[in-house]
Parts: sequence; C-alpha cells; structure tokens
Amino acid sequence: MSSDAGEIDALLRGDSVLQQLKAISDLRLCDRCLGRLFSKRFRGTENAAIGERARCTHGIPETMEVDCYLCHGLFKKMDELSKLPVDELGKWEYDTLWVGSRLEFGARLREQEITARSQFTDAEPLKVEVNRELGKRLSSLTGKEGKMTNPDMLVVIDVAFSAFQLEPSSLFVYGRYRKLVRGIPQTKWPCRKCHGKGCSHCNFKGKMYDTSVEELIAPPLMNATAAEEHFFHGMGREDIDAIMLGNGRPFIMELSKPHVRKIDLVEVGREINAINAGRVDVSDLRFSSKAEVRELKAASPVKRYRITFRALGKINKQLLCEVITKLSGTKLSQRTPLRVAHRRADLVRERTVLECKLIDMQDDAVTLEVEAESGTYIKELITGDGGRTVPSVSQELGMECQVISLDVSEVSTGVEGKW
Ligand SMILES: [Zn+2]
Ligand SMILES: [Zn+2]
Repeated sequence: MSSDAGEIDALLRGDSVLQQLKAISDLRLCDRCLGRLFSKRFRGTENAAIGERARCTHGIPETMEVDCYLCHGLFKKMDELSKLPVDELGKWEYDTLWVGSRLEFGARLREQEITARSQFTDAEPLKVEVNRELGKRLSSLTGKEGKMTNPDMLVVIDVAFSAFQLEPSSLFVYGRYRKLVRGIPQTKWPCRKCHGKGCSHCNFKGKMYDTSVEELIAPPLMNATAAEEHFFHGMGREDIDAIMLGNGRPFIMELSKPHVRKIDLVEVGREINAINAGRVDVSDLRFSSKAEVRELKAASPVKRYRITFRALGKINKQLLCEVITKLSGTKLSQRTPLRVAHRRADLVRERTVLECKLIDMQDDAVTLEVEAESGTYIKELITGDGGRTVPSVSQELGMECQVISLDVSEVSTGVEGKW
C-alpha cells in the first residue's frame, strides 16, 4: 500500500465511516467495490486492498465479485472486453490511445443508490476504474501509450453489449496558400437551395462553384491519410474574385478519421502544387493541432491589398495624390456594406488604413496599394458604398469610383516565425 497503512486503518475505523457502512450493510459488495468508496482518500492504493482492509476492520463477511450487488463480476470480463477492438485498431496508424466505456444502465442506478444511502460522495466512479482496467490491458495488447488528453485514438467499449467504437482524432496540417486566379472561393460553397443534393439552381452540382481552394488542396492530403472528410480553416478569406499573393494566407486543413498519420508533407506539398500549377499553390506545410485552429481563427492579421479602380470622370492627379496622403493613417467609419448586409449584422465599425500608396495611374484606371487593419472593407474604401464608408476615395474625389480588381498581396500576422 502506498498510503501509510496506519493512516488508512485509523480512517477506516472512524465513527462516520462506521455509520456510512451501516447504511449499506444489506448490500453485498466485493472488496473492489467496497474499496472504491474510499479510493480518493487513499490515492495509489488498489481498491481491492482498501476494500479488504475495510471489511476486516468492520467484520463484514467477504463477497465474491460475481455475487457483488454493484459490479456483478464485471471485472472478470476485462480481458475479454479489451480484446474486442484489437483487430480493428490494427487498421489505423496511431501512437497514443485512451479508453472510455459505456456501462449497463442498471449499474449506474445501483451506484447512485449506494452513494445516496451511504453519503460516500467522494468515491471513485465505477466507470473510472473500468476505463483504467480496460486501458491498461489495451495498452499492453497494442503496445500503444495511454494518453488522456488529445490521444490519437479514443476507444469506447460498451461493456453491457460487448461492442466498441473507435474515435480517431483528426489530423491537422498547417500551411499557407496562394490563389493565382480569380473566381474560386476559399471553401466549398454548397447550394443554398438544395444543400448539396443537386437542383436546377446549381446545375445539379450541389454547389455554387466548380471548385474551391479547399477542394484543390485536399485530394493529395486525403489520399495520403486515407481520411474520411476534410474541413478547411483559413485565417480569414479573400473575395471569390480576388487573387491571394505574397507569401500566402495561413490555413489549417483538418483531416477527420485519418487511417495514416505519418505522412511526408514535403511530398504532399509537391503533389498539391503540381496538380494545381497556375491556380493554387501551398507552402510551409507542417503538422498542427486543434488548439492552433482556435488561435488561427482568432488572429486579426494586417493585410496588404492591391486594388484597381476606375473613376467615372476625369481624375486630377494632384488631387488624387492629396487624397492618398490623407487616407494613410486615417480611421474609417464603416457601416456594414450593402453587399454583405443580408448575412452580417448592420453596425458601424472603425478600422484604420495603415498605409495607402499610388502604384499606377493610366487614363481613368488607378491602382493603389493599401495596408489596413483586419476586418476593413477595402472595396468600400474606394466606392464609399453610398456614404456608408467615410471617408472614401470616391467622396474625396467627388466622383463615382468602381472597383475593377482587388488582390491580397500579403497577410501579415505580426507573430514572428509562427505563421
Ligand atoms: Zn463489485
Ligand atoms: Zn442546388
């Protein structure tokens, strides 16, 4: 026993323990189930050993496990139950595992009854011991390490029905993508009308666009991992008709239920870039985690854009230069643009234009480079969106301006070396 034996005896002999045991004296419990009532007080000591000591101390007659009111001899089945998933587990690549269990409903009721009557409120739950016993056996059968948080493989064993379920954790792959052509959304865009089934609205494709950055990047990853599904997590997104340049936009691809985890990301990256040449490419692929997905989604990167617009009138170059100078460092007041108002809350937000530079001016077409805070509506900075964005290039020039193209030239997170 790792707890001091004298200490255990003293506690077991106490008056309150005697009262508690009396309250359930008509229920016959095996040493293991008896010991579990105290196990949180004597960490590191086997439940059966504590139970035996409690029984001897109080002169309680011994009950065999098969006759136990609570467990009905469940622990005799541990070897058999832990063998159930072994063959199926052999089809998956994983390094760490954790075992959970589903107990017979009656066992949970009997356990509640014991707690309610005895007031052993800090007893170890039956399920915890079952999980531990199954886990030990499965680790030794498979040679895989037990790991409670984020195991590669969660095995749930239903002890009442001798069934099991495997829940492999997702594999996460980080990278940066560049989108070299217009007209591709970032993620698969299911048809609003049929939700993917196919209808006349979507030309029976079930989606609104033929492909997406996600769908172009995913196949080599899906093939390499033999995963069931993929989910794309981007650090923000650019418009469908915007090109994404610079060193790319950070993303994490989540591969759900992967059969293979140890994949060669250099090779996969090469394959992605070969099949998508001229459309999409990826770089910096590495393994990631669910926690990083949350960080990525919460990031507010500064972005640099290249935007070309046309003014409906003759632009005075000197005035244009004055406007550009004025906009650098200006705080914009932006009411939710009309083009997105149907899916976003209508509110006014303030965003700062960090830098605005003239790149090119030809006849009526002007190209600017704009660096702005995360969440700035860049098209509206040019058009003014009917007075909803103030100030704007259109308002300052005193003439209507139309955006011809908008590209993202850099997504910069400010987290050096991380993204
Ligand atoms: Zn028992
Ligand atoms: Zn449809």
